[in-house]
Amino acid sequence: MKIWFGFVLFIAVFTHQLAAQVRCSTFEYQQEQLLTNPSLQNKINAIEAFTKKAIKNFQNIRSRLDGNFVIRIPVVVHILYHDPSEDISDNQVMEQIEALNRDYRRLNADTVNTPSYFKPVAADCNIEFLLATSDPMQRSTTGIIRKYTPIRSWDEDDKMKFSASLGDDAWDATSYLNIWVCNIKGILGYSSFVGGPANVDGVVINTSVFGQSNTISTYDKGRTAVHEVGHWLNLKHLWGDTDCGDDSVADTPKQSTYTVGCPSGIRISCDNAPNGNMYMNYMDFTYDDCMNMFTQGQKERMRALFESEGPRYSILFSRGLDTPLIYQTPKPDEPPQWLHPQIYPNPASNDLYLDVEYDVRWIGKTVNLINLQGKIVKQVVISSEYQKIDISSLAGGMYFLFAKKEDGATIRMKFIKQ
Ligand SMILES: [Zn+2]
Repeated sequence: MKIWFGFVLFIAVFTHQLAAQVRCSTFEYQQEQLLTNPSLQNKINAIEAFTKKAIKNFQNIRSRLDGNFVIRIPVVVHILYHDPSEDISDNQVMEQIEALNRDYRRLNADTVNTPSYFKPVAADCNIEFLLATSDPMQRSTTGIIRKYTPIRSWDEDDKMKFSASLGDDAWDATSYLNIWVCNIKGILGYSSFVGGPANVDGVVINTSVFGQSNTISTYDKGRTAVHEVGHWLNLKHLWGDTDCGDDSVADTPKQSTYTVGCPSGIRISCDNAPNGNMYMNYMDFTYDDCMNMFTQGQKERMRALFESEGPRYSILFSRGLDTPLIYQTPKPDEPPQWLHPQIYPNPASNDLYLDVEYDVRWIGKTVNLINLQGKIVKQVVISSEYQKIDISSLAGGMYFLFAKKEDGATIRMKFIKQ
C-alpha cells in the first residue's frame, strides 16, 4: 500500500511538473517536515481531535465563532527581492489583500460560476485580512517589509524565513499571518502547517503570482495566496493528497486527484455522482479564473482553530491592528556588509572582470578607473553581472576602481595592470 501510494504521488508530482509550475507543494513540504521531526505527527493528531470537537460544539451550542463573528487577521508581507523588478509595489500588495478578503467573504463576482448543485454549501467564511498597523514592538508599520537579498531563487526549505540565511525573520506567529513573497524555484507557493514551529509559520508565495497584476495570466487573481492561506488555516487538498483520500471535510465530495487547467461540466470520480468533483473549490489546482468557492465544512474547519485553546486562538487578541504606541517606522535592513563586488584576475593584463552578481543594483552605474595621480583614465557603465573592462590600453602600474550608488554604497578597489 505504501509503495503504491508513493508511486501515485511520484506520478502525480512528475506529471504535474511537466504540465506547469507546481501549483502548491504544501503536502510535500509537510512530508519532509515529518521525516525530520516525527513527533510533529502527535501535534497534528491533537489539533485534528481538537478541530473535530470544536466543530461538534459549534453544532451543539452555537459557539460565537460559528456564524457571523468576523475574524480579522493582521498580516505582514515580507518582500524579498534580488532583481529590482521583484520589489513589487504597495499597490500589488493591496491587490493581494483585497483578493483574500474578496474570496474569504464570498464577495467574488465569479460566484455566478459556482454550479447550482454546489451553491447551497458555498460559504462566506467571515474571515478578513488586514495589513498590520503595529509591529511586534508596537511601532507603527505599513505591514510591508522590503528587503534586498543576494539570493536569486529559493527552495521550499524555509530559508527565506530567516535573516541569518538572507531572508527575513517571521513576526510573532501568535499575532500575525506572515506572508513571504520571493522567487521560489518551480512552485507557486507553499504553507506551513498548523502545529508546526512558530518561526516558520506562514505562507510563501512566488512573486510572479502575488497580487492581481502579475504577468502569468492563468494565476492573476491572487488565488495562489487564497489557496495557501487555506492550508495555513488547516485545510487540506480536496483529494486528501491520495487517490480518493479524505480532506476531513464532509461537504466536499471525494475526488481522485487534483484538477489542472479550466475544466467544465461534471467530472465523476470516486463514486461521487451525480455532481462529481468540486474542481471550482479554492483547494483544488485549477486556474485562478476557474475557482470560486469554499464550503461550509471548510469554513467550520478553519474557524475551529480560533476557538478557545485552539492553535490560532491568540490571533483574536493580536495587537497587530491596534493604533501603534510608537510612531517610528523601523529602518529597512541594510544588505550585509560582506557582500561586495569582486574583481578578477588581479593583477590583470588585458581584461579585468567586475562581478556584481550579489548586488545587481550596480547595473547601470558608472565605474571609474583612477590612476595614482587621481586622474580618471577610463569610465565604464556596468551593463552585466560580470562586467568585462578592457584595460589593454592602460600603462602598467596600480589603479583604483571607484563607483557609487544612490544608497551611499561604494566600490573602492585597487588592481595592478601588468
Ligand atoms: Zn495546496
